[in-house]
Amino acid sequence: MKLELPYHLENYIDGYLIAPLNGTFSDNYNPATGEVYAQTPESGQRDVELAVTAAKKAFPSWSKTSSETRFRILNRIAELIEEHLEFLAIAETNDNGKPLWLSKQVDIPRSSSNFRFFATGILHFASESHAMEDRAINYTLRQPIGVVGCISPWNLPLYLFTWKIAPALAAGNCVVAKPSEVTPATAYLLSKICMEAGLPSGVLNIVHGSGPVVGEAIVTHPDVKAISFTGSTAAGARIAGIAAPKFKKLSLELGGKNPALIFADCDWEKTMDEVVRLSFSNQGEICLCGSRLLIEASVYSKFKEAFLEKVQRLSVGDPMLEASRQGAIVSKVHYDKILRCIETARKEGATVLIGGHSIQPKGRCENGYFIQPTVLEGLGPNCQTNQEEIFGPVVTLQSFETEAEALELANATSYGLAATVWTSDLARAHRLSAKLEAGIVWVNCWLQRDLRTPFGGVKNSGVGREGGWEALRFFTEPKNVCIHFG
Ligand code: NAD
Repeated sequence: MKLELPYHLENYIDGYLIAPLNGTFSDNYNPATGEVYAQTPESGQRDVELAVTAAKKAFPSWSKTSSETRFRILNRIAELIEEHLEFLAIAETNDNGKPLWLSKQVDIPRSSSNFRFFATGILHFASESHAMEDRAINYTLRQPIGVVGCISPWNLPLYLFTWKIAPALAAGNCVVAKPSEVTPATAYLLSKICMEAGLPSGVLNIVHGSGPVVGEAIVTHPDVKAISFTGSTAAGARIAGIAAPKFKKLSLELGGKNPALIFADCDWEKTMDEVVRLSFSNQGEICLCGSRLLIEASVYSKFKEAFLEKVQRLSVGDPMLEASRQGAIVSKVHYDKILRCIETARKEGATVLIGGHSIQPKGRCENGYFIQPTVLEGLGPNCQTNQEEIFGPVVTLQSFETEAEALELANATSYGLAATVWTSDLARAHRLSAKLEAGIVWVNCWLQRDLRTPFGGVKNSGVGREGGWEALRFFTEPKNVCIHFG
């Protein structure tokens, strides 16, 4: 199979690639050049209706398909993603603005491993049984839910899309999925891959379009029994408000304002390199990026100097070039938002230590959306800049005197997604890990991914967990069967 990206992308419904029923498309921009390079379906409620009907029709057969066969098809999808890694990575870079090397090394390989992990996972998925001594035995039947909705954001387009779809399909559900309207290209290409892999018609349906129209049509549809959503806290709250009274199962992976706690006793060189990475990877557009760097006062000046020296060397430019450590911001709308946030920080009294402005690389990217990595200091913990997610290449520096103060600063936001701790004191690492209000704590590392572990946040960063057995449990309905023999 040769993958191609047509100018007009199409929905994938009931095994076919089709235009939206209303015939409407919106422009899809390459953020590195600011030019339109494709058009995305602006689907409506009727397309979602078609997709749900197809999924319902496919469910009886797919849910009874043996796990061995499901494994084979999903594993084939993983293989095809690997075979087309280069093409998928280029498509993603043109869609999202991230560096091509990053897409090749991280996003696309991880998309493939999502499918492989859950393809094999379903072969080993087991449920519990509880014996009541000489009276009865209980066992838990875990059955697929039916039609489920998967809605994903633009920052890791194929990686997060497949992170939801793969466990949902592995568990025997049929899916109506919506990628972000900002980055639809790799989801379109996944449709082609699924067709090639022999996924039966209607098992996965992909409807492109906006959140308020297509996303909400999926969430409100009475036949969609569970929603797995990754995106902003505001959209998550709206979805929860719609879905809760309908008693749908919900998994919400939302925003973050993640702290990095840097202690004087850390492994200095390693910490410096990793803190630069956790601050600015993917232009800071990873929900797990650290955006509040908390530094022990005794090494604050030393840290600041070394950090700025490294940030200074991060080259921002054409994402197709190997040398570019940072690419373009995903869209004009998001670019404007980040620049506004930097303005707000200035008004709040921040000192801009580095960056703080957009840049125009020469040549083909001169009209793209590029922002210099930005480091701010002089802000208190309660200001807007330290409270609200910016989701761009902007970090703040704050200092602390004691471990207790570090913890207080770290927990001083409404979010609770991820935190990192940089120390060589093992006891401290354990103490803080238990007390940090976060769903994920990394000690002396960042973005290590073990697919078996639960993934998700607390507080305004969401409810529910993805990853490993948690995802397979989410996408199955447990039924307790109690057999009395006493
Ligand atoms: P977003 O909330 O604007 O959109 C996410 C998805 O939801 C898109 O597909 C969008 O079309 C859809 N959507 C928007 N409104 C909707 C509605 N009312 N009903 C149904 N669907 C709707 O988020 P975004 O700007 O695409 O992504 C950035 C956000 O995602 C950041 O806040 C980031 O922290 C978060 N994020 C979280 C995680 C995580 O795992 N916790 C991972 C990546 C990104």
